[in-house]
Amino acid sequence: MMEAKQEAIDELKDNLGKKKVADDIATRIVHRFTHGPEILLHSEWDKFTPGCVVYPETVEETQMVVRVADKYEIPIVPQGGRTCTYGAEGMYGCIAVDLARMDKIVDFDESNYRITVEAGMRAVDFINFLAEKGYMSLEFPTMNRASQMGSRAALHGYNKFEGRWGSSGNHIKALEVVLPNAKAVWLGRGTRFPTKSVVGYNLKDLFIGSRGTLGIITKLTERFIDPPPKYIYGISAFKDWRDAFKTYIDLKRPLMLSAGVWRVKSYHKWLLSQAVKAILELDWPEEVAALTDYHILGYPEVVEATERLVKRVVSEHNGYWSEDLPETTFIGRMHESMEKYMGMGAIGTERIEKGGMGDRIVPYDPGIPDGNLIKMYEEHLEHLRKMEDGEHYPALADSMRVLSPGEPVPTDLSYTKLWGQWLANLKKFDDEARNEFKQWFAEWANIIWRYNGSLTATHNFIPRDMEVDLRKRELGEDYYELMRAIKRVIDPKNIMNPKVIF
Ligand SMILES: Cc1cc2nc3c(=O)[nH]c(=O)nc-3n(C[C@H](O)[C@H](O)[C@H](O)COP(=O)(O)OP(=O)(O)OC[C@H]3O[C@@H](n4cnc5c(N)ncnc54)[C@H](O)[C@@H]3O)c2cc1C
Repeated sequence: MMEAKQEAIDELKDNLGKKKVADDIATRIVHRFTHGPEILLHSEWDKFTPGCVVYPETVEETQMVVRVADKYEIPIVPQGGRTCTYGAEGMYGCIAVDLARMDKIVDFDESNYRITVEAGMRAVDFINFLAEKGYMSLEFPTMNRASQMGSRAALHGYNKFEGRWGSSGNHIKALEVVLPNAKAVWLGRGTRFPTKSVVGYNLKDLFIGSRGTLGIITKLTERFIDPPPKYIYGISAFKDWRDAFKTYIDLKRPLMLSAGVWRVKSYHKWLLSQAVKAILELDWPEEVAALTDYHILGYPEVVEATERLVKRVVSEHNGYWSEDLPETTFIGRMHESMEKYMGMGAIGTERIEKGGMGDRIVPYDPGIPDGNLIKMYEEHLEHLRKMEDGEHYPALADSMRVLSPGEPVPTDLSYTKLWGQWLANLKKFDDEARNEFKQWFAEWANIIWRYNGSLTATHNFIPRDMEVDLRKRELGEDYYELMRAIKRVIDPKNIMNPKVIF
């Protein structure tokens, strides 16, 4: 595999124009990292520096970039807002493709609830456009101000109302992709618009979650919905986190979903005590072990009837609310600040006070079947305590701490992801801490698998030098080999994001 040599960069400049190709060191440095934690595991950062960054404005220009990459066999890394935990990091000498200038609405098919946009459109602009037209987007990631729509497909994004409506792959009905041979092809079920078809293989879904390893997504067609006329938010406190989790599980049962409970989530004291301190400067009440909140949406009569059912479930599990607790709106504020500061934890760190890099959020999100959630969480909490106790992993205890031990949120029916965050001190994270983190991670993988879980329900990172081994162990050798065979057929020169997955 080559790095972008001057000849290739000149060819890109000749074809795209100088304003669409940047090879100055400042731009290249900006494009080497994402919000992902992989950076923690390396002391040599130059190996992430792209050779140049290109800014195509059309599908034809994107094809041109791929043609040059193919000719010189230079790796391509597609990049959106670079907020993801894994996959958009640069590679030394690669061509980083920044899609931000491809941000237009291509088609708005109001009567059929379909919209087609270019891949570089920001999620927030997509959401706002639909809201202005009187509709509701089903895409709703936390970092929506930076996330791009193409990335939603490339990583099969997680959305606010996932429990009711599913992840990005459920909303995306068709994709335009520039393949490694520089051909642009539309992939959908059958033709672009039918929602069910058995005319051909479902190739669109092969690209959902492919993280730029099979091609560059340039356009996508999504479904959207009418906004529900009534929305009720509620929250309850619990003295035992297990009761909070049982409430969570009961409120996400299939009939509750169809009755209008679109979202439910639990929050452990480990997170809450840090969050209220950072956001409200309050001490968390000792006796409250966890919270569970819920969102009910739909027609007013249905929402009101569902709320009565929900309250019954909450009280059966000993849920309550008291005046001593912080205002219920603080959960919303916690989410707001999370987006604003690229992670709630950054508030309590040097990053805001001094600017630039201080501590670093390390998000994680294992997937677990609901039936195993409580047992798994008990073991997971034990393992998290080892991260901090100073006895089991002394170097790690000195450089990493637990911000959130994992908040259960729905994925598929009867499945949950634990959305959690560690906070790492970038300056202290030395080789010893790196090794201990990897040991900690390997043991954690065994806990997750013991409960039939997955290392990542949506887009968690796996340390790169453990990645192939852990993927094979989770998926099985045959599955992994099938993926590799598909990759070889579509990308025989291995130019598309080659360091990812394989
Ligand atoms: C605090 C925090 C909260 C988060 N909450 C959520 C959440 O609620 N839901 C959620 O889904 N995610 C969440 N994320 C992860 C991330 O912010 C989102 O997934 C986001 O949508 C990623 O978009 P991006 O444009 O930043 O992607 P990037 O990081 O730029 O890219 C992600 C991957 O997609 C590939 N890619 C990007 N564009 C293309 C393209 N056009 N063609 C092919 N491949 C492409 C990249 O190569 C990379 O592998 C969170 C992250 C943080 C830090």
